[in-house]
Amino acid sequence: MSDTPSRVVKDNMIGLRMPDIDVWSERVVTVLGQNPGPFTGPGTNTYVVGTSKRPLLLDTGQGLPEYLPLLERALDEHRHTDTLDRIVLTHGHPDHLGGCVQVRERFGPVPVLKRPWPGFDGPMTDVLEPIDDGAVVATEGATLRAIHTPGHAEDHLCFWLDEERALFTGDVVLGAGTTVIPEHGGDLADYMASLRRLLALEPAVIYPAHGPAIRDAGGKIREYIAHRELREAQIVALLEQGVGDVKQMVRKMYADVPEFLHAAAGTSVRSHLRKLEREGRARRDGDAWELVAS
Ligand SMILES: [Zn+2]
Repeated sequence: MSDTPSRVVKDNMIGLRMPDIDVWSERVVTVLGQNPGPFTGPGTNTYVVGTSKRPLLLDTGQGLPEYLPLLERALDEHRHTDTLDRIVLTHGHPDHLGGCVQVRERFGPVPVLKRPWPGFDGPMTDVLEPIDDGAVVATEGATLRAIHTPGHAEDHLCFWLDEERALFTGDVVLGAGTTVIPEHGGDLADYMASLRRLLALEPAVIYPAHGPAIRDAGGKIREYIAHRELREAQIVALLEQGVGDVKQMVRKMYADVPEFLHAAAGTSVRSHLRKLEREGRARRDGDAWELVAS
């Protein structure tokens, strides 16, 4: 393995700074969720989408008090309005859905559109207007098409913006760092299928939920696929050498990653092992994993 690179995805979310409010196109204004961290980078991007005085809000951040004045300012300065038409959510993780209560307290009972996911929709469970793959959410100047893209989360929707061939990727493709495949609700095989589906759309630009816009959209998605394929090859190679303990695998594979991220790395390794298991290529024997002889 020494002649293969250990990481394909090189950029790092830690220390990356972005403006609180930014104009990304004539119909897309970002407002940063004010929740920076090792897994959210500069924080969650929320998006004001549309050209009229009734724009959509795509994702709502985590619900931090610092966020609301920024959203108000973005709406006032860029759309001369105090009104939101609808809230649209990529998925139910708290840094995307968590701001719904706060935003609706301030702007009134704005409809919330999302693919339902029992157990993950929190205070929005009874409020949701369900949408699913293929749903069209349109406002003046912007037409969004929902694409069901499970893998990071079962309920995850990406949104295709017709007018720009742009793709809002939520947490499926990030402007910096690597998507987590959580133990609960995550599935690496689904995730790889979702990436391939997005690649086939040939987007012109990616607007991710974390980090800056990605202009080389196809290149980035291919990089993501290659990164996971490289990890899988590394894991298979370790299993061939008889290294089947997740902690040992992390120490060998993530030598260049800070110690505090090793728990997350373990989650990633286990997601690969579960994928190999699902494909009948690996099995678990107590705490150790081994290859299934073919
Ligand atoms: Zn998420």
